Amino acid sequence: MVSEFELIRHFFTRLTPGAVLGVGDDAALLHVRSGMELAVSTDMLVSGTHFFPDADPFFLGHKALAVNLSDMAAMAAQPRWATLALSLPEVDETWLEKFSAGLFALADEHHVELIGGDTTRGPLNLCITIMGEVPPGAALRRSGAQVGDDVWVSGVLGDAALALAHMQGHIQLAAKNFAACALALHQPKPRVALGLALRGVAHSAIDISDGLLADLGHILDCSNVGAEIAFDALPISCALQLFLEQPLGKRCLLAGGDDYELCFTASVAHRSEVEKIAADLGLLLTRIGIITAEKKCTVRAADGNIINIEESGYDHFR
Ligand code: ADP
Ligand code: MG
Repeated sequence: MVSEFELIRHFFTRLTPGAVLGVGDDAALLHVRSGMELAVSTDMLVSGTHFFPDADPFFLGHKALAVNLSDMAAMAAQPRWATLALSLPEVDETWLEKFSAGLFALADEHHVELIGGDTTRGPLNLCITIMGEVPPGAALRRSGAQVGDDVWVSGVLGDAALALAHMQGHIQLAAKNFAACALALHQPKPRVALGLALRGVAHSAIDISDGLLADLGHILDCSNVGAEIAFDALPISCALQLFLEQPLGKRCLLAGGDDYELCFTASVAHRSEVEKIAADLGLLLTRIGIITAEKKCTVRAADGNIINIEESGYDHFR
């Protein structure tokens, strides 16, 4: 049985050239580049709430960091450092090896350094705090949407929720479709490069973690505006297309969780710039509606009818 100290050294200690001091002391020391603001965010994944207890630890390592990187993306911050608070029911070295591999693979991809954390025995719980840099005034807030703005989303929506519906036995996906949707659920791609490219272009942004309507709703509330969304414009996969006539399919698209795409607003004058960003990044960016003065969110079908969705997003306390 390894000690807590050995566990930390073996699984979570790497060189951290971007920090003054990393793992190993009572605190890490960081030097924020001159003139930059520090963006800080925490996201926790709880066993049984956010993932199945027997979930693949490599994917958990990826996802625990991905959901945090997604918050940096939504703020247009450059992620730099992270801390990891880990509660483990037991020391399972095989599990830890895979978890750490998934975590560091994504960390390396984004040049993020793990500079500290805490490790304790308890129910499986993964909590990461991420820190990034953003020039003063450049962060994208939820409160910046303006009447007349286009509403945009990245990627396709609803696949992660569709995979979950399959895993819970509510629907049966073909093997090929499930494989594609499971990737969206287990290995979401945080849109960090998009967030950075949207500095000075977007008026507001949020990452979609609790479903499009819930998260767009936060932009609308914070900005004191409404939106008109064209249902047929929403970007979806072939897998979700097959379920779009059913309430479950609509719910996955509008209110499913775990998309980790960005929803942002930008002035009509910036359309071609957003399209250029999409081309440069090789990332689908879709215009799905407009910001309105009337403070409500309407989703309209092609025939003009309003689409109502009872459950607009996942709320842990509802
Ligand atoms: P203390 O008792 O002073 O809080 P710890 O024994 O908890 O110190 O941690 C020792 C060092 O290891 C600290 O630098 C801490 O940031 C780091 N650390 C602990 N757990 C983790 C972890 N899961 N991932 C990364 N670093 C960790
Ligand atoms: Mg500690």
